[in-house]
Amino acid sequence: MSTSTTAVDLKSCPLFINGRPVISRGPKDIQYNPATGEPVAEIPRSTAEEISAAVQAAQDAFPSWSKTPVIQRCKILFKYRQLLEEHAQEFVDLIIEENGKTIEEARGSFDRGIECVEFACGAPTLMMGETVERVGRDVDGWSTRNAIGVCVGITPFNFPFMVPMWMFPMAIACGNTFILKPSDKVPRTAVRMVELAHEAGLPPGVLNLVHGAKEAVDCLLTDARVKAVSFVGSSAIARYIYQTAANNGKRVQALGGAKNHTVVLPDAEMKSTVNAIMGSGFGCAGERCLATSVVVAVGEVADPLVKELVRAADNLNVGAGCETKTQMGPIITEESRKRILSYIDLAEKEGAMLARDGRKDPVSKTKGFFVGPTILDKVNPSSRVAKDEIFGPVLSIVRVKDAKEALEVIGKSEYGNAASVFTRSGSAAREFTQNVTAGMVGINVGVPAPVAFFSFSGWKGSFFGDLHALGKDAVHFYTEQRVVTCRWPE
Ligand code: NAD
Repeated sequence: MSTSTTAVDLKSCPLFINGRPVISRGPKDIQYNPATGEPVAEIPRSTAEEISAAVQAAQDAFPSWSKTPVIQRCKILFKYRQLLEEHAQEFVDLIIEENGKTIEEARGSFDRGIECVEFACGAPTLMMGETVERVGRDVDGWSTRNAIGVCVGITPFNFPFMVPMWMFPMAIACGNTFILKPSDKVPRTAVRMVELAHEAGLPPGVLNLVHGAKEAVDCLLTDARVKAVSFVGSSAIARYIYQTAANNGKRVQALGGAKNHTVVLPDAEMKSTVNAIMGSGFGCAGERCLATSVVVAVGEVADPLVKELVRAADNLNVGAGCETKTQMGPIITEESRKRILSYIDLAEKEGAMLARDGRKDPVSKTKGFFVGPTILDKVNPSSRVAKDEIFGPVLSIVRVKDAKEALEVIGKSEYGNAASVFTRSGSAAREFTQNVTAGMVGINVGVPAPVAFFSFSGWKGSFFGDLHALGKDAVHFYTEQRVVTCRWPE
């Protein structure tokens, strides 16, 4: 593509520093529409100077913002919520264009993001400390929760609106200032989110936006002015963020990748189970950290279950997310598409049975980044397709003899984000819930995503840190305690 075409046709993607949009001087990458494979925008990589300016703006805004009464901070968030709703359609369109989601998925993820703003509006009560009178003679003790300073959020491509919302609304409601570094693959949704926050009345410097990938992140991780880092992305990068930020004296919460299991017991109700697995495995084209990737079929349920899943996958409407009939959209990039296809090739070599081969679907041969829904049967639980995060529309079926063996399969996974069980038995569900090694559990629920007032609580290699995102953990993560011991002698 010629430079002149690029300059005329492609959308731009500004940074946002100290309340103003900034055109980056850094190098630019092309963003492609995943449904068409066409270039849509130029995405800058912020320079070290630009990142330093964003950190300085956040640092300068902190004294005044942290002293602004919490009720006033939340009033801005109330207004922000209203503005976001007024622009809902614009966000849905942006999410579809950048990420490829279907209309329903884009709207759903928008609504879940809004819930986070609503939760943050409760900061006045959530930030309350504790008091004990008369801890000694004439002595009272109490604690308060205080903002910590400049916080950073680094987010993945798969939820351009929702995941940033896990971070900055609560951080700024608690009195911190913030720098958002969204995914370099989907940063334009974040630009609009930050613009509207300023329209809602957020003072300059409280919320800043920079772009880029490793180099930008490294600048933020090593900057002494940054006090806390929230990360959501793949496990290898989450581990790196956790270690590097901690080595630089920051508090860190780093949410990583996943390999989620769905256990189907022989007494499960077939129709609703199949619907739930289809939604979880192929919703968002399998690019969800709560997507089920391995179906653990117990006993005699395996044959009818595989048959029903293949039938449902045959009927799945795959295409561009903007079309109302589409039920599954494209993969984020051509690179990801190739990685997913290579896993299907690998599965064949590892001896899995291709119950449904999405590579053969006509949509997989279009210019967009599509992979048809793929179902691998009789997968060996020790094989790579059963263990690695594929992050695409590929379901592996592992057959086991009983519920105990199903729990053992899950226990051996290096990840521990989510796991679900489908059954009509309360005691089987209870046994599963109390023994499964995953932080989020679904009982007859395919995507056990906690609502915003609970924490998003992955285990094992799916999380690095102590305090999770969302819920009370988020309030604790974005504040530090001051404990006062006070004597007024008679
Ligand atoms: P990713 O790890 O490639 O990127 C995440 C962020 O890190 C992006 O902002 C990216 O620009 C930045 N980054 C990329 N390479 C980097 C590097 N070398 N050093 C520092 N920063 C770097 O993840 P992704 O592909 O954008 O997102 C998908 C992953 O996110 C999946 O593994 C998925 O399971 C995970 N995810 C997890 C959760 C959760 O709650 N645990 C939620 C959503 C997504």
